[in-house]
Amino acid sequence: MAGNLTCRQVEEFLMDYLENRLGFWMTLQFSIHLFMCTNCSKYMQEYKNTIALEKKIFENPEDEAIGNVPDDILQAILNVKKPSS
Ligand SMILES: [Zn+2]
Repeated sequence: MAGNLTCRQVEEFLMDYLENRLGFWMTLQFSIHLFMCTNCSKYMQEYKNTIALEKKIFENPEDEAIGNVPDDILQAILNVKKPSS
């Protein structure tokens, strides 16, 4: 059952999975794969963390909660999205 989905497919469709855009069976297969595959569950965790961090920064750049993020990483993320002036 878990073999229906490869790690590569998980990487490819992870965004859709997290945004609930996959159908019932695909979502089910994803859950099973993530449950059984350490690599992919790790990958998803990191992916989620990155998204959460980006969201936090853009919703409230002055938030104290992101004070723990190293400055260079923070700058790198902000530089990607901000138009250079
Ligand atoms: Zn995997």
